[in-house]
Amino acid sequence: MVLGSTPIADSEAILRFIGNAIDIDPVNRIVHAEGGATIQAVQEKAELFNLRFPISYGSKGTATIAGAIATNAGGMERRVSDQLIEYHAIDGRGHHIHHTLSESSNAVDSVWPDSHYHFLGSQGFFGPIVAGSFRLEPIHNHQIGVWIPMESLHQFKAVASCLKIHLSHELKVLELMFDSALSDVKALGSMPVPNSYELPYAALVICETNRSIDALIDSFCELLENVSPGLIDKVSVADTPSSIQSFIHARESISDATRQIAAQHNHKVLPFDLSLRQFQATKDLEKLQEMIKSSSIKVNGFGHFCQNDHRAAIHFNVILENTVTSEEMNRIEKNVYDIVTQAGGSHSAEHGGLGDKNIAHTLWYSDPHQVQQFISFKNKYDPKCHFQAQRMKILLRMAENIPHLR
Ligand SMILES: Cc1cc2nc3c(=O)[nH]c(=O)nc-3n(C[C@H](O)[C@H](O)[C@H](O)COP(=O)(O)OP(=O)(O)OC[C@H]3O[C@@H](n4cnc5c(N)ncnc54)[C@H](O)[C@@H]3O)c2cc1C
Repeated sequence: MVLGSTPIADSEAILRFIGNAIDIDPVNRIVHAEGGATIQAVQEKAELFNLRFPISYGSKGTATIAGAIATNAGGMERRVSDQLIEYHAIDGRGHHIHHTLSESSNAVDSVWPDSHYHFLGSQGFFGPIVAGSFRLEPIHNHQIGVWIPMESLHQFKAVASCLKIHLSHELKVLELMFDSALSDVKALGSMPVPNSYELPYAALVICETNRSIDALIDSFCELLENVSPGLIDKVSVADTPSSIQSFIHARESISDATRQIAAQHNHKVLPFDLSLRQFQATKDLEKLQEMIKSSSIKVNGFGHFCQNDHRAAIHFNVILENTVTSEEMNRIEKNVYDIVTQAGGSHSAEHGGLGDKNIAHTLWYSDPHQVQQFISFKNKYDPKCHFQAQRMKILLRMAENIPHLR
């Protein structure tokens, strides 16, 4: 911020100015954090005030607030666009940018920057984000975690809809997990995983309440019995912080377990980070699984169904024999993205659409208006291309070769 009016000679010099201070306003339940503070540091500081920073994911110990804003990152409970109040940045002209999110952001994924609040999802293209303020959540008296083995995606959808309607204020986390992925966590042997009764899916539900735990568990059981009689006999309930944490750790271990087990068997992993429209996400997943069935060994998926009311973020990892050719992998990738695009979803829920891996898909599946809009933001904030010069060059060169963008 000191550099607000200083022309940029060296973009690295600005990055060195980003601090990591964290300031909690407990009365208004807001955290003001400098861009270099890690997600975990913010969570820990908020807890000292009996508040919670509800953005959390695997790399929270190293991922910074600025990086999270730049990718519109998200976890089981919330994503940045749900909690962000304002941010400060310095653009490529050396101007101090301060945007207050007076209306909610319209960012639903992490493909392009937000169309109103341009540094949200900007992925480093416009200049450094130096600070951000976020809403915090109160910590309620009691929490329960429920692990529910599921026979089908249809059953998951029925249970999810029922919980969202009837426990809307108490429901914090609703995760879908494929049992094949949990089997990999079990195979590593370092993490207890609740019994899955050999069913193909499981859900992890976390609820928070100011009622008594018994009252919450009673309501939960009654709802589950109504929507899916007999299912209650298979659930595992956690009602202490440590047992709830062990459920969360099992779910959080999925990505690593998938990678490790695939490496042990010399299998290839084709990872997808999909954003699907929530009301039809289970149908879309069925379609994707059907399409992939003959070529894959298995699909290890998991997804967040509580993070956003309209979208589900799905990590859909396809495991393949080592002998599968790159042509076959490209074909699978194209088929997945075609299905997802036709269904109104997108190919980067959380990890950024403008990184090296995704840039080609982002251009291919975007309409020319989005590409033009991004280029106009870039020209406005960073006309001399101090930031992400290499990627910008690639983006412009690729756009030249895509017929509908020429
Ligand atoms: C193990 C693991 C698990 C993950 N799980 C999730 C997950 O569950 N959900 C999720 O959303 N994401 C996840 N991610 C990706 C996540 O979005 C990023 O890793 C993280 O939020 C980015 O923060 P970072 O500080 O590490 O930034 P980097 O990884 O260094 O950068 C990420 C992007 O942000 C830009 N950037 C970084 N700092 C700034 C800045 N100061 N100003 C402007 N732009 C900047 C970079 O240019 C780059 O485009 C995961 C990553 C890992 C490694």
